[in-house]
Amino acid sequence: MNSLDLKHLSFWNIIGGIGQVIFLSRFVVQWYVTEKKKQVVVPPLFWYLSIVGAMLLLLFGIFYDKHWVVIAGYAFSWIPYVRNLVIHYRHKEAHLDCPNCKRSCAPESKFCSECGTRLAAPAAAEGKS
Ligand SMILES: [Zn+2]
Repeated sequence: MNSLDLKHLSFWNIIGGIGQVIFLSRFVVQWYVTEKKKQVVVPPLFWYLSIVGAMLLLLFGIFYDKHWVVIAGYAFSWIPYVRNLVIHYRHKEAHLDCPNCKRSCAPESKFCSECGTRLAAPAAAEGKS
């Protein structure tokens, strides 16, 4: 039986290991939310975990592994993660809240998808006519 090899417990191996755990945990989060809502959902936490995990793995690649495959794999992956968060929050801001049941309805909806109440036009659109 092998004992734990302490040479693998260097600072950068711990950073890389934490990065890998965080990076993989995003799938658990995404799967949990999808099962809970019974539809495919990618929550913002998925993208935050992606950013943190990828940054730790990038640091591991640069300062310890020093292999271009690892560095290239994480050097640019943060771009779509950040972009997805920007789009998520813009989309969330554009949602219309139903005055009757308080459901958050898709942007530019004319009626509430839950109770059918007519949704007021956004203030900016009202000023145009
Ligand atoms: Zn409603």
